[in-house]
Amino acid sequence: MNFYYGLSETRVVVLGPPGSGKGTCAGFISKMYSIPVIRTGDMLRKVATEETERGRITKKHLDRGELVLDEIVIGIVSKRVRMPDCEEGFVLDGFPRNLVQAEALNRIQEDLGMGLSHVLNIVTDAETIISRLSLRRTCPRCGAVYHLKNNPTKMDEICDECGTKLILRSDDREEIIRHRFEVYEEKSRPLLEWYAKAGLVREMRGDLDINEIPEVLRQVLEGK
Ligand code: AMP
Repeated sequence: MNFYYGLSETRVVVLGPPGSGKGTCAGFISKMYSIPVIRTGDMLRKVATEETERGRITKKHLDRGELVLDEIVIGIVSKRVRMPDCEEGFVLDGFPRNLVQAEALNRIQEDLGMGLSHVLNIVTDAETIISRLSLRRTCPRCGAVYHLKNNPTKMDEICDECGTKLILRSDDREEIIRHRFEVYEEKSRPLLEWYAKAGLVREMRGDLDINEIPEVLRQVLEGK
């Protein structure tokens, strides 16, 4: 295993089961350090609307809570991190999801002469996730994420950002959530050991109050 280091910039991978709060934390990191957030889930939901073979295959995997084909995901991430706004850093939400993707990311990093600064692991359990995701609502237009109890919209299930009616993501139904959790345990959890060997992993609790998150993130990422 050959990890490439070359850092000083903030390049963070956020890991954790579905519904652990990866998206929320990645959003905070993006704002705190003024770096773009790359969300493979959002990018793949767009791909799934394409009327192409790639779109149809991606939709099938998304709907079942399975991982989308590595070659599709690696292709879109590889393009995205080469864009100029990623030069000073980025935060990856949802990638890598397995060892093949982690190795691909390592190769991309070597190619670009850049290294990861942190791998943030959000620790949480299956029951917390199920209760959180089944109350999660997403804006189909701008991607904003809400929670019916903990982070409601100002108007009944209407997006605060763009005024669109929120939806329950098709893969946020209980049986699909359970399957996504199993997929995480089997395919993504091994990444923790892999990145721990490189000394990159920092842990954070996944049940914090939303107002506590920025300060905890600062402590975890800056070691303060
Ligand atoms: P997320 O929005 O990160 O919860 O991802 C939602 C779904 O998108 C996952 O259940 C997968 O079907 C797909 N997905 C997101 N990121 C990846 C990835 N890196 N590799 C494969 N599938 C992914």
